[in-house]
Amino acid sequence: MSIEIANINKKFGAFTALQDINLTIPQGELVALLGPSGSGKTTLLRIIAGLETPDSGQVSFNGKDIADKSIQQREVGFVFQHYALFRHMNVFENIAFGLKVRPRKVRPSKGEIEDKVQELLRLVKLDGFAKRYPGQLSGGQRQRVALARALAVEPEVLLLDEPFGALDAQVRKELRRWLRRLHDELDVTSVFVTHDQEEALDVADHVVILNKGQIEQLGTPEEVYEHPKNPFVYNFLGNVNLFHGRVQDGKLHIGSLEIDAPEYKDSPNAEAISYVRPHDIEIARNPGEGFIPATILFIRSVGYSVHLELRRGDTEDFVEAELSKEQYKELGLKTGEKVFVKPTGLKIFVPEDYSI
Ligand code: ATP
Repeated sequence: MSIEIANINKKFGAFTALQDINLTIPQGELVALLGPSGSGKTTLLRIIAGLETPDSGQVSFNGKDIADKSIQQREVGFVFQHYALFRHMNVFENIAFGLKVRPRKVRPSKGEIEDKVQELLRLVKLDGFAKRYPGQLSGGQRQRVALARALAVEPEVLLLDEPFGALDAQVRKELRRWLRRLHDELDVTSVFVTHDQEEALDVADHVVILNKGQIEQLGTPEEVYEHPKNPFVYNFLGNVNLFHGRVQDGKLHIGSLEIDAPEYKDSPNAEAISYVRPHDIEIARNPGEGFIPATILFIRSVGYSVHLELRRGDTEDFVEAELSKEQYKELGLKTGEKVFVKPTGLKIFVPEDYSI
Protein backbone atom coordinates (compact mmCIF):
# COMPACT_ATOMS: atom_id res chain seq x y z
CA MET A 1 0.00 0.00 0.00
CA SER A 2 1.49 3.36 -0.96
CA ILE A 3 0.80 6.44 1.16
CA GLU A 4 0.40 9.85 -0.42
CA ILE A 5 0.34 12.94 1.78
CA ALA A 6 -0.60 16.17 0.01
CA ASN A 7 -0.56 19.73 1.34
CA ILE A 8 -1.23 18.77 4.95
CA ASN A 9 -1.62 21.61 7.44
CA LYS A 10 -2.37 21.29 11.13
CA LYS A 11 -2.68 23.90 13.85
CA PHE A 12 -3.29 23.48 17.57
CA GLY A 13 -4.85 26.83 18.48
CA ALA A 14 -2.42 29.44 17.17
CA PHE A 15 0.47 26.95 17.05
CA THR A 16 1.37 25.51 13.65
CA ALA A 17 2.26 21.86 14.16
CA LEU A 18 2.48 20.96 10.44
CA GLN A 19 2.85 23.25 7.48
CA ASP A 20 2.26 22.20 3.90
CA ILE A 21 3.55 18.65 4.16
CA ASN A 22 3.89 16.74 0.89
CA LEU A 23 5.24 13.24 0.93
CA THR A 24 4.83 10.02 -1.01
CA ILE A 25 5.76 6.72 0.58
CA PRO A 26 5.96 3.91 -1.96
CA GLN A 27 4.52 0.47 -1.23
CA GLY A 28 6.90 -1.73 0.77
CA GLU A 29 9.15 1.05 2.04
CA LEU A 30 10.31 1.62 5.59
CA VAL A 31 10.36 5.36 6.15
CA ALA A 32 11.62 7.20 9.22
CA LEU A 33 10.18 10.51 10.37
CA LEU A 34 13.12 12.10 12.11
CA GLY A 35 13.31 15.41 13.90
CA PRO A 36 13.78 17.13 17.23
CA SER A 37 11.14 17.14 19.91
CA GLY A 38 8.05 19.10 18.88
CA SER A 39 8.85 19.04 15.15
CA GLY A 40 5.52 17.41 14.29
CA LYS A 41 6.51 13.76 13.77
CA THR A 42 3.84 12.23 15.97
CA THR A 43 1.19 14.60 14.65
CA LEU A 44 1.93 13.47 11.10
CA LEU A 45 1.85 9.81 12.11
CA ARG A 46 -1.47 10.31 13.90
CA ILE A 47 -2.92 12.01 10.82
CA ILE A 48 -1.90 9.02 8.66
CA ALA A 49 -3.53 6.73 11.21
CA GLY A 50 -6.73 8.73 11.40
CA LEU A 51 -6.26 9.59 15.08
CA GLU A 52 -5.94 13.27 14.20
CA THR A 53 -7.68 15.29 11.49
CA PRO A 54 -5.68 17.76 9.40
CA ASP A 55 -7.01 21.31 8.93
CA SER A 56 -6.42 20.95 5.22
CA GLY A 57 -4.77 18.56 2.81
CA GLN A 58 -5.21 14.95 1.91
CA VAL A 59 -3.96 11.52 2.90
CA SER A 60 -4.42 8.75 0.34
CA PHE A 61 -3.65 5.04 0.41
CA ASN A 62 -2.90 3.62 -3.04
CA GLY A 63 -4.09 6.88 -4.53
CA LYS A 64 -7.50 6.79 -2.80
CA ASP A 65 -8.44 9.59 -0.40
CA ILE A 66 -9.09 8.04 3.01
CA ALA A 67 -10.52 11.11 4.75
CA ASP A 68 -13.86 9.42 5.36
CA LYS A 69 -12.32 6.14 6.57
CA SER A 70 -12.34 5.45 10.28
CA ILE A 71 -9.27 4.20 12.11
CA GLN A 72 -10.57 0.62 11.89
CA GLN A 73 -11.33 0.93 8.19
CA ARG A 74 -7.81 2.16 7.45
CA GLU A 75 -6.49 -1.19 8.68
CA VAL A 76 -3.21 0.12 9.96
CA GLY A 77 -1.16 -1.54 12.69
CA PHE A 78 0.23 0.65 15.49
CA VAL A 79 3.06 0.32 17.90
CA PHE A 80 3.71 3.10 20.39
CA GLN A 81 6.59 3.72 22.75
CA HIS A 82 4.65 2.80 25.84
CA TYR A 83 2.19 0.55 24.18
CA ALA A 84 0.46 -0.73 27.25
CA LEU A 85 -0.39 -4.36 26.72
CA PHE A 86 -3.51 -5.52 28.51
CA ARG A 87 -2.02 -6.45 31.85
CA HIS A 88 -4.76 -8.88 32.82
CA MET A 89 -4.40 -10.79 29.54
CA ASN A 90 -1.58 -13.17 28.76
CA VAL A 91 0.57 -12.88 25.65
CA PHE A 92 -1.71 -15.13 23.60
CA GLU A 93 -4.83 -13.14 24.50
CA ASN A 94 -3.08 -9.84 23.83
CA ILE A 95 -2.05 -10.87 20.34
CA ALA A 96 -5.42 -12.47 19.56
CA PHE A 97 -7.37 -9.42 20.74
CA GLY A 98 -7.66 -7.65 17.37
CA LEU A 99 -8.97 -10.82 15.74
CA LYS A 100 -11.43 -11.73 18.50
CA VAL A 101 -13.14 -8.35 18.45
CA ARG A 102 -13.83 -8.51 14.72
CA PRO A 103 -17.49 -8.61 13.69
CA ARG A 104 -18.74 -12.19 13.58
CA LYS A 105 -18.93 -12.25 9.77
CA VAL A 106 -15.21 -11.63 9.35
CA ARG A 107 -13.96 -13.16 12.59
CA PRO A 108 -11.62 -16.13 12.10
CA SER A 109 -12.50 -19.40 13.82
CA LYS A 110 -10.94 -20.35 17.17
CA GLY A 111 -8.53 -22.73 15.41
CA GLU A 112 -7.52 -20.10 12.89
CA ILE A 113 -6.85 -17.57 15.65
CA GLU A 114 -4.76 -20.17 17.51
CA ASP A 115 -2.67 -20.85 14.38
CA LYS A 116 -2.25 -17.17 13.62
CA VAL A 117 -1.05 -16.34 17.15
CA GLN A 118 1.43 -19.22 17.13
CA GLU A 119 2.75 -18.06 13.77
CA LEU A 120 3.18 -14.52 15.08
CA LEU A 121 4.90 -15.76 18.22
CA ARG A 122 7.41 -17.58 16.05
CA LEU A 123 7.86 -14.45 13.94
CA VAL A 124 8.66 -12.26 16.94
CA LYS A 125 10.79 -15.05 18.44
CA LEU A 126 8.60 -15.58 21.47
CA ASP A 127 7.49 -19.18 20.96
CA GLY A 128 6.66 -20.66 24.30
CA PHE A 129 5.72 -17.30 25.85
CA ALA A 130 1.97 -17.52 25.09
CA LYS A 131 0.92 -18.05 28.71
CA ARG A 132 3.10 -15.35 30.25
CA TYR A 133 1.60 -12.11 31.45
CA PRO A 134 3.09 -8.73 30.43
CA GLY A 135 4.48 -8.28 33.95
CA GLN A 136 6.61 -11.38 33.41
CA LEU A 137 8.32 -10.03 30.29
CA SER A 138 11.29 -7.74 29.68
CA GLY A 139 10.78 -4.37 27.98
CA GLY A 140 12.09 -5.71 24.67
CA GLN A 141 9.84 -8.75 24.84
CA ARG A 142 6.83 -6.54 25.59
CA GLN A 143 7.56 -4.41 22.52
CA ARG A 144 7.74 -7.54 20.41
CA VAL A 145 4.36 -8.65 21.74
CA ALA A 146 3.02 -5.18 20.90
CA LEU A 147 4.35 -5.61 17.40
CA ALA A 148 2.82 -9.08 17.06
CA ARG A 149 -0.48 -7.65 18.25
CA ALA A 150 -0.30 -4.91 15.62
CA LEU A 151 0.52 -7.47 12.93
CA ALA A 152 -2.26 -9.90 13.88
CA VAL A 153 -4.82 -8.04 11.80
CA GLU A 154 -2.49 -8.23 8.78
CA PRO A 155 -2.19 -4.51 8.21
CA GLU A 156 -0.75 -3.24 4.97
CA VAL A 157 0.49 -0.15 6.78
CA LEU A 158 2.48 -0.33 9.99
CA LEU A 159 2.90 2.86 12.03
CA LEU A 160 5.42 2.96 14.85
CA ASP A 161 5.91 5.88 17.23
CA GLU A 162 9.29 5.67 18.99
CA PRO A 163 8.69 1.93 19.33
CA PHE A 164 11.98 1.25 21.07
CA GLY A 165 12.32 4.56 22.86
CA ALA A 166 12.13 3.21 26.37
CA LEU A 167 14.66 0.42 25.89
CA ASP A 168 18.37 0.38 26.54
CA ALA A 169 20.81 0.98 23.69
CA GLN A 170 21.77 -2.63 23.04
CA VAL A 171 18.19 -3.94 22.96
CA ARG A 172 17.17 -0.99 20.77
CA LYS A 173 19.81 -1.89 18.24
CA GLU A 174 18.81 -5.55 18.13
CA LEU A 175 15.14 -4.74 17.82
CA ARG A 176 15.54 -2.24 15.04
CA ARG A 177 17.53 -4.72 12.96
CA TRP A 178 14.91 -7.28 13.63
CA LEU A 179 12.14 -4.82 12.70
CA ARG A 180 13.90 -4.23 9.38
CA ARG A 181 13.95 -7.98 8.61
CA LEU A 182 10.34 -8.38 9.67
CA HIS A 183 9.27 -5.44 7.53
CA ASP A 184 10.95 -6.99 4.48
CA GLU A 185 9.47 -10.41 5.11
CA LEU A 186 5.93 -9.13 5.49
CA ASP A 187 6.07 -6.64 2.62
CA VAL A 188 4.22 -3.95 4.55
CA THR A 189 4.63 -0.21 4.21
CA SER A 190 6.03 1.11 7.47
CA VAL A 191 6.42 4.60 8.89
CA PHE A 192 8.27 5.03 12.13
CA VAL A 193 8.88 8.09 14.25
CA THR A 194 12.19 8.58 15.96
CA HIS A 195 14.34 11.39 17.26
CA ASP A 196 17.37 9.10 17.15
CA GLN A 197 19.32 9.83 13.97
CA GLU A 198 21.40 6.69 14.17
CA GLU A 199 18.27 4.58 14.37
CA ALA A 200 16.75 6.31 11.34
CA LEU A 201 19.92 6.14 9.24
CA ASP A 202 20.48 2.53 10.19
CA VAL A 203 17.19 0.97 9.14
CA ALA A 204 15.10 3.26 6.93
CA ASP A 205 14.89 3.26 3.13
CA HIS A 206 14.12 6.95 3.21
CA VAL A 207 14.43 9.49 5.98
CA VAL A 208 12.12 12.49 6.30
CA ILE A 209 13.71 15.22 8.39
CA LEU A 210 11.19 17.45 10.07
CA ASN A 211 11.75 20.74 11.82
CA LYS A 212 9.12 23.14 13.14
CA GLY A 213 6.34 21.40 11.25
CA GLN A 214 8.07 21.43 7.89
CA ILE A 215 10.09 18.92 5.88
CA GLU A 216 13.71 20.06 5.75
CA GLN A 217 14.89 17.18 3.60
CA LEU A 218 13.76 13.84 2.27
CA GLY A 219 16.26 11.31 1.01
CA THR A 220 17.97 8.00 1.48
CA PRO A 221 20.13 7.78 4.63
CA GLU A 222 23.20 8.29 2.48
CA GLU A 223 21.75 11.31 0.68
CA VAL A 224 20.76 13.14 3.84
CA TYR A 225 24.00 12.34 5.62
CA GLU A 226 26.38 13.01 2.74
CA HIS A 227 24.47 15.83 1.11
CA PRO A 228 22.56 17.71 3.78
CA LYS A 229 20.47 20.40 2.14
CA ASN A 230 20.89 23.05 4.79
CA PRO A 231 22.62 23.83 8.09
CA PHE A 232 19.77 22.41 10.14
CA VAL A 233 20.12 18.95 8.58
CA TYR A 234 23.89 19.08 8.83
CA ASN A 235 23.75 19.94 12.50
CA PHE A 236 21.05 17.47 13.27
CA LEU A 237 22.76 14.50 11.65
CA GLY A 238 25.84 13.89 13.70
CA ASN A 239 28.74 15.78 15.13
CA VAL A 240 30.09 18.68 13.16
CA ASN A 241 32.71 21.38 13.40
CA LEU A 242 31.61 24.85 12.51
CA PHE A 243 34.00 27.34 10.88
CA HIS A 244 33.01 30.94 10.30
CA GLY A 245 34.53 32.67 7.30
CA ARG A 246 33.85 34.49 4.05
CA VAL A 247 33.54 33.42 0.44
CA GLN A 248 34.88 35.47 -2.44
CA ASP A 249 36.06 34.74 -5.97
CA GLY A 250 35.83 31.00 -5.56
CA LYS A 251 37.70 30.85 -2.25
CA LEU A 252 36.61 30.26 1.30
CA HIS A 253 38.62 32.24 3.85
CA ILE A 254 38.75 31.00 7.42
CA GLY A 255 41.17 33.23 9.31
CA SER A 256 44.45 32.95 7.42
CA LEU A 257 43.34 29.75 5.73
CA GLU A 258 42.25 29.85 2.10
CA ILE A 259 40.31 26.93 0.66
CA ASP A 260 39.07 26.41 -2.90
CA ALA A 261 35.32 26.82 -3.20
CA PRO A 262 34.67 26.77 -6.94
CA GLU A 263 30.89 26.82 -6.50
CA TYR A 264 31.30 30.38 -5.16
CA LYS A 265 33.32 31.53 -8.18
CA ASP A 266 30.88 34.29 -9.08
CA SER A 267 29.58 35.06 -5.64
CA PRO A 268 30.13 38.49 -4.13
CA ASN A 269 32.11 38.74 -0.91
CA ALA A 270 29.74 37.13 1.59
CA GLU A 271 29.76 35.77 5.08
CA ALA A 272 29.81 31.97 5.10
CA ILE A 273 29.73 29.14 7.53
CA SER A 274 31.24 25.80 6.77
CA TYR A 275 30.81 22.43 8.38
CA VAL A 276 33.27 19.60 8.67
CA ARG A 277 32.64 16.17 10.13
CA PRO A 278 35.19 15.09 12.76
CA HIS A 279 36.43 12.24 10.54
CA ASP A 280 37.22 14.81 7.82
CA ILE A 281 39.72 16.65 10.03
CA GLU A 282 43.29 15.65 9.22
CA ILE A 283 45.97 15.91 11.88
CA ALA A 284 49.70 16.34 11.28
CA ARG A 285 52.75 16.89 13.44
CA ASN A 286 54.25 19.44 11.05
CA PRO A 287 52.79 22.45 9.30
CA GLY A 288 51.66 22.04 5.69
CA GLU A 289 49.42 23.62 3.12
CA GLY A 290 45.89 24.02 4.38
CA PHE A 291 46.86 23.15 7.97
CA ILE A 292 46.25 25.38 10.96
CA PRO A 293 47.84 25.10 14.42
CA ALA A 294 45.85 23.49 17.21
CA THR A 295 46.37 22.16 20.72
CA ILE A 296 45.08 18.78 21.85
CA LEU A 297 42.82 19.20 24.86
CA PHE A 298 41.32 15.78 25.26
CA ILE A 299 41.66 12.27 23.84
CA ARG A 300 39.06 9.54 24.14
CA SER A 301 39.64 6.12 22.69
CA VAL A 302 36.54 3.97 22.31
CA GLY A 303 35.96 1.08 19.94
CA TYR A 304 37.49 1.46 16.49
CA SER A 305 38.15 5.16 16.57
CA VAL A 306 39.84 7.79 18.67
CA HIS A 307 38.06 11.02 19.41
CA LEU A 308 40.09 14.20 19.95
CA GLU A 309 39.13 17.65 21.11
CA LEU A 310 41.45 20.45 20.08
CA ARG A 311 41.63 24.22 20.35
CA ARG A 312 42.37 26.14 17.16
CA GLY A 313 45.48 28.33 17.30
CA ASP A 314 45.06 31.16 19.75
CA THR A 315 41.29 31.22 19.40
CA GLU A 316 38.67 29.95 21.77
CA ASP A 317 37.23 27.76 19.00
CA PHE A 318 37.19 24.02 19.43
CA VAL A 319 37.69 21.38 16.80
CA GLU A 320 36.62 17.77 17.12
CA ALA A 321 38.50 15.14 15.20
CA GLU A 322 38.12 11.42 14.78
CA LEU A 323 41.01 9.19 13.81
CA SER A 324 41.34 5.47 13.30
CA LYS A 325 43.34 3.65 15.97
CA GLU A 326 46.13 3.09 13.41
CA GLN A 327 46.41 6.79 12.50
CA TYR A 328 46.39 7.69 16.16
CA LYS A 329 49.18 5.25 17.01
CA GLU A 330 51.23 6.36 14.02
CA LEU A 331 51.08 9.98 15.12
CA GLY A 332 51.66 9.11 18.78
CA LEU A 333 49.49 11.98 20.00
CA LYS A 334 49.22 13.15 23.62
CA THR A 335 47.04 15.62 25.48
CA GLY A 336 48.52 19.14 25.61
CA GLU A 337 50.58 18.71 22.43
CA LYS A 338 50.61 21.28 19.66
CA VAL A 339 49.72 19.84 16.25
CA PHE A 340 48.27 21.00 12.90
CA VAL A 341 44.77 20.34 11.64
CA LYS A 342 43.31 20.53 8.17
CA PRO A 343 39.60 20.61 7.50
CA THR A 344 38.68 18.60 4.40
CA GLY A 345 35.32 17.81 2.83
CA LEU A 346 33.97 21.18 3.87
CA LYS A 347 30.32 21.91 3.29
CA ILE A 348 29.75 25.61 2.84
CA PHE A 349 26.54 27.53 3.46
CA VAL A 350 26.01 31.22 2.92
CA PRO A 351 23.71 32.31 5.75
CA GLU A 352 21.77 34.77 3.60
CA ASP A 353 20.34 31.75 1.82
CA TYR A 354 19.10 30.26 5.06
CA SER A 355 17.37 31.59 8.08
CA ILE A 356 19.91 30.67 10.72
P1 ATP B 1 8.34 14.42 20.33
O1 ATP B 1 9.59 13.84 19.73
O2 ATP B 1 8.64 15.26 21.53
O3 ATP B 1 7.26 13.44 20.52
P2 ATP B 1 7.09 15.35 17.86
O4 ATP B 1 8.00 15.78 16.78
O5 ATP B 1 6.48 14.01 17.74
O6 ATP B 1 7.82 15.52 19.25
P3 ATP B 1 4.42 16.33 18.00
O7 ATP B 1 3.99 15.43 19.09
O8 ATP B 1 3.90 16.06 16.64
O9 ATP B 1 5.98 16.48 17.97
O10 ATP B 1 4.00 17.80 18.41
C1 ATP B 1 4.27 18.94 17.60
C2 ATP B 1 3.86 20.18 18.36
O11 ATP B 1 2.44 20.24 18.46
C3 ATP B 1 4.38 20.23 19.78
O12 ATP B 1 4.82 21.53 20.08
C4 ATP B 1 3.20 19.84 20.63
O13 ATP B 1 3.26 20.47 21.89
C5 ATP B 1 2.04 20.33 19.81
N1 ATP B 1 0.84 19.48 20.01
C6 ATP B 1 0.73 18.18 19.69
N2 ATP B 1 -0.50 17.71 19.99
C7 ATP B 1 -1.18 18.75 20.53
C8 ATP B 1 -2.52 18.92 21.04
N3 ATP B 1 -3.39 17.91 21.04
N4 ATP B 1 -2.84 20.13 21.51
C9 ATP B 1 -1.96 21.16 21.49
N5 ATP B 1 -0.70 21.08 21.02
C10 ATP B 1 -0.31 19.88 20.55
